[in-house]
Amino acid sequence: MPDSILEEIFIKRSQQKKKTSPLNFKERLFVLTHDKISYYDYDAEKGKRKSLKGYVDTEKIKCVEIVLPEDSAPPDRLYPFQIIYDEGPLYVFAKSDQIRKHWINELKNVVQSNKDLMQKYHPCFWEDGIWKCCQQEMKQAMGCRVLETKNGGFFKRGSKNRDSRKPLPPTPEEEKPPRPLPPQPPMLTPGFSVGMTVVAEYEYVPMTPHDLELRKDEEYTLLEINDPNWFKASDKYGNEGYIPSNYIAQALNGLEKYDWYCKNINRSQAENLLKTENKDGGFLVRDSGRFTGKYTVSVFTKAGGETVGSCRHYNICVTAEGQFYLAEKHNFSSIPELINYHQHNAAGLVSRLKYIVSNRAQSAPCTAGLGYGSWEIDPHQLTFIRELGNGQFGVVKYGKWQGRHDVAIKMVKEGSMSEDDFIEEAKFMMKLCHKNLVQLYGVCTKQRPIYIVTEYLANGCLLNYLRDVLQHPSSILLLEMCKDVSEGMSYLEDNQYIHRDLAARNCLVDSNGTIKVTDFGLSRYVLDDEYTSSVGSKFPVRWSPPEVLLYCKFSSKSDIWAFGVLMWEVYTLGRMPYDRWNNTEIVEKITAGHRLYRPQLANDKVYSIMNSCWHERPDERPTFNDLVMTIKDLLFNM
Ligand code: ADP
Ligand code: MG
Repeated sequence: MPDSILEEIFIKRSQQKKKTSPLNFKERLFVLTHDKISYYDYDAEKGKRKSLKGYVDTEKIKCVEIVLPEDSAPPDRLYPFQIIYDEGPLYVFAKSDQIRKHWINELKNVVQSNKDLMQKYHPCFWEDGIWKCCQQEMKQAMGCRVLETKNGGFFKRGSKNRDSRKPLPPTPEEEKPPRPLPPQPPMLTPGFSVGMTVVAEYEYVPMTPHDLELRKDEEYTLLEINDPNWFKASDKYGNEGYIPSNYIAQALNGLEKYDWYCKNINRSQAENLLKTENKDGGFLVRDSGRFTGKYTVSVFTKAGGETVGSCRHYNICVTAEGQFYLAEKHNFSSIPELINYHQHNAAGLVSRLKYIVSNRAQSAPCTAGLGYGSWEIDPHQLTFIRELGNGQFGVVKYGKWQGRHDVAIKMVKEGSMSEDDFIEEAKFMMKLCHKNLVQLYGVCTKQRPIYIVTEYLANGCLLNYLRDVLQHPSSILLLEMCKDVSEGMSYLEDNQYIHRDLAARNCLVDSNGTIKVTDFGLSRYVLDDEYTSSVGSKFPVRWSPPEVLLYCKFSSKSDIWAFGVLMWEVYTLGRMPYDRWNNTEIVEKITAGHRLYRPQLANDKVYSIMNSCWHERPDERPTFNDLVMTIKDLLFNM
């Protein structure tokens, strides 16, 4: 079909047009075009579309939004979304959050100029004649929650960012009273529910008496999920306690717990991994395509005395009876059994699968704080080892907590920070927990100077790393760095948290080369007019969009502008933006429409991403959600 925008196999819930009609869930092939979203029966064997089962005219759609999954939803129904049109809701379940986001984005784009788009929606299902969220019994009842994101266009946010509470000079847009905030479930962890069984991906040694020990690959039952970072759980012996939510996984396709399964990598990334390991018989299992639900085994071989070695890729095939096989007809009822067999027998492969190659983080991720509920750290449990640098708030040191956990300690110079405000905010900042954000572990506030204790990153500041460490980086590596930052920022954006000082100097690099964003929101607590006033000599003018330079209007969209400049820093290996101009000249040039040039290392596609961040109008800039998607697509096709 020439005008199809997206096609995907989803599970569709029956529409319960009558209160008593039974609920059922069927796999359907969904096809989105500009005019219609149609769903078909399809032949899984041949991958062919069969008869049309129904459709919705896109012009009738009033809302597209996620739905909270059912309690104890089965693994294939964890990512539901709703398409509301005049006949009520159509519920569809995607295989992953990424696919769901992608479809919602595209659908919102298609329907953005529809009449009667809804302002409110129901976050839970309509089931057996009742809305589960608000208990209303009329299908047409108005939604009970204000939409986080407008229906039209890409996830546009209003001026309701969490920290816009500081009075700002009014601008025409801001004179309107803001819409009331929806009741916020800010850092909801979709996919988990009470009673669910999860598997530990990492070991966790309790840091406080409330915590529960985790042993890798063992199963736990979730008892309480009120704090998004710390779930209460029990182990198989009946011990209960809090566990870091980022240390566990719900097995979706059952492969997640195997080190050989490399999620989210494409053919060329697989080849790179295998070549780097450079071991004969090195192998991994990856998704065959992006959304196909099929798998490929990639093997590295030096057979026949090859010195460089090469990669072979074998698709895992499925028989009509649902049995799995590789090169020859040795059938198995599961993929792990098939892999286990080929670890011992080549049986048609270029080599037996001798050596697991993994893209998994070897070390466990950071926890949101040093144990459940702790944010005030006892300074006696800190040892200072060496100085890392000197910043706006004074000296930063590397040290250990309780003699074994690496930490960085900012010793806040007296008079450099509005301390009470910061301490208040720190409780919230601690809850921000993402693999691409430098984790705040806690504070020591009972003495002066106060300490800010964070995750330690061995490779230091990104700007120095770009300038002094990287030599002839590949374009994939540079884009990976930008992806890391965009993911951390997308998480901040989802939590309505504005960074205000995003730049390469405020990113750090860990021992694996992963980039993490730091110092988010901190600029609000700086006591130094040179830094905080937009005409001060330390104000980040080179990273600021016109609306910040002219009206001090900060938003996630001003962070987007700064992200574009940060990408430019990455692709120039740490040059100073607009190095020939002083701050006054920059303000003149930027407001007159001048922009940074294309760095030599950036191709047109990369440069167009930067440029999209520098639209004069904030609402024409992409969101971080969009950027993550664009960058991943580009990486996938490299
Ligand atoms: P400030 O934000 O107070 O101006 P910085 O965060 O820039 O100070 O810290 C100064 C320097 O200390 C940085 O450039 C970096 O080299 C080093 N540093 C800061 N935090 C860490 C950390 N968490 N891990 C490793 N090095 C760090
Ligand atoms: Mg800093």
